[in-house]
Amino acid sequence: MNKKIPAFREQLTRLIALPSVSSTDPAIDMSNRPVVDQLASWLSDTGFSVEILDVSENPAKANLIAVAGKGEGGLVLSGHTDTVPFDTFGWQSDPFKLTEVDHRLYGLGVSDMKCFFPIVLDVIREIDLKTLKRPLYILATCDEESTMSGARSLVAAHRALGRYALIGEPTGLKPVTMHKGVFFESIHLIGRAGHASDPSLGRSALEGMNAVINKLSRWRSELQKAHTNPAFSVPVPTLNFGSIHGGDNPNRICGQCEMKIDIRFLPGMDMADLRADIRRTVLETIDGLDLIVEFDPVPTGLPAMHTAADSDIVRTAERLAGEPAGTVGFGTEGPYLNALGMDTVVLGPGDIDVAHQANEYLALDRIVPMKNIVREMIRHFCM
Ligand SMILES: [Zn+2]
Repeated sequence: MNKKIPAFREQLTRLIALPSVSSTDPAIDMSNRPVVDQLASWLSDTGFSVEILDVSENPAKANLIAVAGKGEGGLVLSGHTDTVPFDTFGWQSDPFKLTEVDHRLYGLGVSDMKCFFPIVLDVIREIDLKTLKRPLYILATCDEESTMSGARSLVAAHRALGRYALIGEPTGLKPVTMHKGVFFESIHLIGRAGHASDPSLGRSALEGMNAVINKLSRWRSELQKAHTNPAFSVPVPTLNFGSIHGGDNPNRICGQCEMKIDIRFLPGMDMADLRADIRRTVLETIDGLDLIVEFDPVPTGLPAMHTAADSDIVRTAERLAGEPAGTVGFGTEGPYLNALGMDTVVLGPGDIDVAHQANEYLALDRIVPMKNIVREMIRHFCM
């Protein structure tokens, strides 16, 4: 038994007190280094070899990889260190002060997903690391809630870790092996403004966008006929026309129009192919209309996740959780870990229904079952 590191409650209190908001808005984006440095200190005190990896050019962001045990294969226990932004309005306690009320622990990121690290550390302190026959990795990433830069940088570096991975995202203790992929596309049509009285004086970007919407709606119908997966509550890929802005005055021909759409696709569908399809459809639609189109210059997105149902970690997670593997409606780092050669299951103690909002909490009765799952996973894959 390692007594050098503090116990669960003290660790979680400390992690919640270290703000690590990640946001695509630079004005509220924060460093995750305080959380990573704290985890690094506890993990090295526990006997792990710890590496802190820079992510892109931003020195404020880092991933942590800690390992104990040697050899091939092994297990990765993975979580993200960042949280979503917050409004103080709505919180009944200080979001950075772990607060217990009615058998629940409240705090920003407690469920999604800072609680996972103290749970893992609590299990690890019971283990004699010299008895590990295969490596046990702890992976702590940055920017999961914004750009996924942490997970993407591991893929870019071909950073191979263990053979199997467990991500402790809030799934209510149910194993998850699939989620949809998602990407946004921004379509900017540029025409020419002119007096409303004579259409020949301009080129209407708004009318062009109307044609684009009609064409993309037909493309969506065809896509939904060709692709279904009954494991998902919405069993087809979706396309949402989320925002549109164009023109200024009723008496001017609309010179510019911009639309943003959200596409969610099933496992087995390729993000690059879909994006190319959309762009081709837009270009075909405006052919001959004398309009210019610009697409999002920095496209990003999240691949769909799918882990094979017969993988050892899926079977093991189903046995330990007492539930068949299913799907979730939110994205995770799972597809990136799968791309690195790890069969990955998402399974954690929190609930997504209380994440990303004021008064986020973790029910106390989730902690022991999650510790048991983590302990048995380590036994099965590393001992
Ligand atoms: Zn999360």
